[in-house]
Amino acid sequence: MRRIYSRLTGQPSAAADPAPDGEGPLSASDALVMIRAFEALNIGSFWSTDAEGQLNYLSENALAALTQGAPAEGQSFADLFVRNAQDAEGQRTLAFVLARKHRFDRMIVSSLAGEVRRMWSVSAEPRTDEAGAFIGFNGHIADVTSERQSAEESSALAMNDHLTGLVNRRHMTQLLERTVLAFNHQRRACATLLIDLDRFKQVNDTLGHPVGDELLKQVAHRLVKVIGDRDRVCRLGGDEFQVILPDMDDRGQLGEMAQAVITALSEPYSIEGNRCMIGASVGVAISPYDGTTGDELVRNADLALYAAKHSGRGRYRFYSGELLEAAEKRRQLEEDLHDALPGGQMDLVYQPVVDTKTHRITGAETLLRWLHPTRGSISPALFIPIAEESALICRIGEWTLRKACEDAASWPLPLRVAVNVSPVQFADASLPKLVANVLAVTGLDPARLELEITEGVFLQEGAATNAMFKALKSLGVRLVLDDFGTGYSSLGYLKTAPFDKIKIDQSFVRGATRKDTRNKAIISAIVTLAEALGMETTAEGVESFDQLELVKELKISHIQGYLFGKPESLASFIDKAANADWMVAPEGPAFHRMERTAMYRHVGVIHEDHYYPAMLRNLSASGALISGIVDVPNGTRFVIDFGEGQFVIGTVRRTREHHQGVQFDRELVSDGNGGLCTRNRILAHHLLAAGIPRSGDEFMTHQISQLAAGKISMPSFAVLNKNGTITTGPRMTPDKAA
Ligand code: C2E
Ligand code: CA
Ligand code: CA
Repeated sequence: MRRIYSRLTGQPSAAADPAPDGEGPLSASDALVMIRAFEALNIGSFWSTDAEGQLNYLSENALAALTQGAPAEGQSFADLFVRNAQDAEGQRTLAFVLARKHRFDRMIVSSLAGEVRRMWSVSAEPRTDEAGAFIGFNGHIADVTSERQSAEESSALAMNDHLTGLVNRRHMTQLLERTVLAFNHQRRACATLLIDLDRFKQVNDTLGHPVGDELLKQVAHRLVKVIGDRDRVCRLGGDEFQVILPDMDDRGQLGEMAQAVITALSEPYSIEGNRCMIGASVGVAISPYDGTTGDELVRNADLALYAAKHSGRGRYRFYSGELLEAAEKRRQLEEDLHDALPGGQMDLVYQPVVDTKTHRITGAETLLRWLHPTRGSISPALFIPIAEESALICRIGEWTLRKACEDAASWPLPLRVAVNVSPVQFADASLPKLVANVLAVTGLDPARLELEITEGVFLQEGAATNAMFKALKSLGVRLVLDDFGTGYSSLGYLKTAPFDKIKIDQSFVRGATRKDTRNKAIISAIVTLAEALGMETTAEGVESFDQLELVKELKISHIQGYLFGKPESLASFIDKAANADWMVAPEGPAFHRMERTAMYRHVGVIHEDHYYPAMLRNLSASGALISGIVDVPNGTRFVIDFGEGQFVIGTVRRTREHHQGVQFDRELVSDGNGGLCTRNRILAHHLLAAGIPRSGDEFMTHQISQLAAGKISMPSFAVLNKNGTITTGPRMTPDKAA
């Protein structure tokens, strides 16, 4: 590393600010003496980085503990610490927090030098140059290993969470581990629910920690009321809770329970005169199907929780093997995403926006495209959230903004160009600086640039958000509220935030063509309000003439959708629009057709001692339409294997050539994600333990070969006996005597 002490003298730092008493500034050398004296006390250290996060100062005492020898030139500060977010109890890694370029206070991180793990408390203040550009951080760091350890030890002695009085994490972990192990032998199931509050952080940040604490107590109270047994409810820490439900393997009942939890926690709270609302997401895993140890069960419930949060919050989700695959895929994509920009795999396409009355093009929205070298084109709906989690979004966002403005500056007519801005970018204090720079470099008229932001930005602290709005508006760019109607859409935003345009989400527009909804009335109210506030409106995703009629009737001022053009390359956008005299004729179907939920999923059908591969064409809670088998008389009894131990027994009620309509003996239940699942599942070893023969029939052979080929992870069996009876293995019933 560059030698550090000499650096301190020459550099303006927070410590060199003028003294508050007006006696004149503290001289740089005085400040240095003070810093040295502080460092000698060994109660804390200073650090400083450049804009890239590379260390240019670290007090000697911390240097010794963190680097074991001389660090290299260009050592990144974040890399001195372990990258495991769980370790640091916060959800974000240090690298992520640094990328936001905001000040932060006492973030706990850990380091690992050889075998020695230390805990650190890190705080930082961003530095800027005269022009206001971010040039690095000055910060403080203190070793808090012993404090943290003794805090952990004393809480370990207690079984309860001090705030809510619920069972604490440590105790719950032991309880779950013991229960699951014991139950495995007794063939009993045990479910666990992981619950995470939505928007708790926002309440905590805006109303203060005492209110946040009180809110957690009320949440605990409501949870206990729903679950009915205090000893089974745990606060894991922060805003996460866990519930353990022994002898529960019925996903119908579990889904109802999870829904009841979400409903109860989403009711308004009243705290010291404040009314607030939060939500909750729930992940569910059940042993032994989803894990045979406490650890495994919790890990899988956590994956389910993650999926629930990402499918729109306020939902529950059961664990399934697909989630694990999805998580792995995501990890792989994140890795590949690092190479996407440098590898030239990113491109921009433009989708025209037209004036509703004249059908003239007024501008275009910039949409990002990623051409993955092996997986082909990947939707931004998939990779943007990944980029947002890894802080890659800032680099991608900057590239998009630069290229879009550059492109737009070359258009033959001064049309508007809209660029999507992620809430993560919006939280980055240097965004206005970047926008100003891009405008200056490209020479684009600021009035032509529209920044599209979603309601997600309102989840940040209010003051910073307002300052950001102001800074951007003062550059002369236009601000657009995107995806209106998908989230917590509150008209309140429109009154306070200086939007120039509201984009009404396609799902909302689509819904409005149906008679049975209030979408139409709501859109009409939004348009009236927007007009009164001098804002434009855009209807997104307009695909058909009936939707066009509706948009006209509702007086939405602009339209974007396939009816007037799909997203296209820069060249084709310029070309087409120019040829059409910048006016486009709508082209598309007369009526919008709802996407049919036709599915083509592989299932297995077990009949007598045969296992037939079949296709699932249609599925409802009470029956299915399958195809792939011929000559099946009405009244035939089947077992359908949906995979992952899900078996359903049914009777053929309709049969035509190779299609059969099957009525289930027992209805399926909601999987919390718009799909269906069986209430119970069956494991192979339960059948084996029950003495069901394991040789001589094809079904077994099929399953075993699948297993051997690694095609199914969970061995599962069900047998239709020759005499027409069906053995699905023992239902897992609680053994009360045990
Ligand atoms: P969005 O901002 O709501 O963009 C509109 C999406 O709707 C685009 O999908 C567009 O292709 C699609 N669309 C437009 N008209 C129609 C229509 O008539 N019918 C249907 N079915 N779809 C239509 P796309 O390009 O896949 O983008 C998905 C989302 O990804 C965007 O939603 C936006 O949230 C995000 N995104 C795309 N580009 C960027 C970007 O550069 N930065 C950021 N932060 N997000 C981006
Ligand atoms: Ca958009
Ligand atoms: Ca949108």
